Amino acid sequence: MDLTALAGELQTGLKLQVLTNEPLSRHTTWRLGGPADLLARPRSREELDYCLSFARRKGLPLHILGNGSNLLVLDGGVRGLVVQTREWRQVIIEGRKILATAGTLLPGLLQVASKKGLGGLEFAAGIPATIGGAVVMNAGTPAGCLGDRVVRVEVLDCDGHSHILENREISFTYRHSSLRRAGTVVTVTLELVLDEVPAIRERIEANLHRRRSRQPLEWPNAGSVFKNPPGYYAGRLIEAVGAKGWRVGGAEVAEKHANFIINRGQATAADVMELIERVRETVARQLGIDLELEIEVWGEGL
Ligand SMILES: Cc1cc2nc3c(=O)[nH]c(=O)nc-3n(C[C@H](O)[C@H](O)[C@H](O)COP(=O)(O)OP(=O)(O)OC[C@H]3O[C@@H](n4cnc5c(N)ncnc54)[C@H](O)[C@@H]3O)c2cc1C
Repeated sequence: MDLTALAGELQTGLKLQVLTNEPLSRHTTWRLGGPADLLARPRSREELDYCLSFARRKGLPLHILGNGSNLLVLDGGVRGLVVQTREWRQVIIEGRKILATAGTLLPGLLQVASKKGLGGLEFAAGIPATIGGAVVMNAGTPAGCLGDRVVRVEVLDCDGHSHILENREISFTYRHSSLRRAGTVVTVTLELVLDEVPAIRERIEANLHRRRSRQPLEWPNAGSVFKNPPGYYAGRLIEAVGAKGWRVGGAEVAEKHANFIINRGQATAADVMELIERVRETVARQLGIDLELEIEVWGEGL
């Protein structure tokens, strides 16, 4: 595959940024992982549509990347075209409704909403996601999840057809939604609640403070590595088997929060995978509980 020729063709006509052999370590919060054959960064609906139809026409495997905050990209990287939505950020507010394009970052959205006295998303303060990634994953905390606030979502299916899905047509469960199978999320409409600006800001600050005190945010990470099994907290189980501080290469089970694996500098995806397997195997052997991954693994090993 002539990547340079493909990138040139994809760039033609639109002033679209297309990178070849781009290390995804630059685009994931874990700051590790191999290269994407092609990485395109559309900044408009037109450019996004064009990227998706290009992948279809050329038969390229397509991967939609938000802010890369829930991804472990293996060291051999990802084949085909990665379309990063993060450059297309637009928010329209009408009354209590907010329409956001897929690449809108949640922290920015929270800021805009709180300035207008719109609350109900404070639980999401500190989740470093795009709104597209957040609805697909039904991101959240015990205090709430994105699906609770969604009115409707526009998706483009694999043939490029647009569908509007109302909340009742989408299944939102723990860190999962049926949007995963539906295609690419293009826009999300949320409905928030009217509240006093200082009260919203206070709740946001309190949540950010709690995260800073409990999570190892000073190191690159991807949030919780494992899902909480029903009735348990994954972090407590990992702590109970004594795994805090375990290290493989540059990857470490965080002392501050055992469900976080941090990149202490030069971690590879292989280091992280090995640590994940050690933790999973030990929890299963000692406690008889199978931990399921919350993070998603992309690409191929070396
Ligand atoms: C410090 C930290 C704290 C975190 N805290 C939380 C938390 O409290 N709760 C929580 O739930 N998560 C948390 N996370 C994990 C992560 O932020 C969420 O899973 C988030 O939803 C991922 O969004 P993203 O835009 O980064 O998606 P990515 O990681 O880029 O992608 C995740 C998945 O979504 C898909 N996707 C992304 N955008 C689209 C789109 N437009 N259309 C279709 N598919 C798309 C991707 O293909 C991939 O399958 C945390 C992560 C970090 C680093």
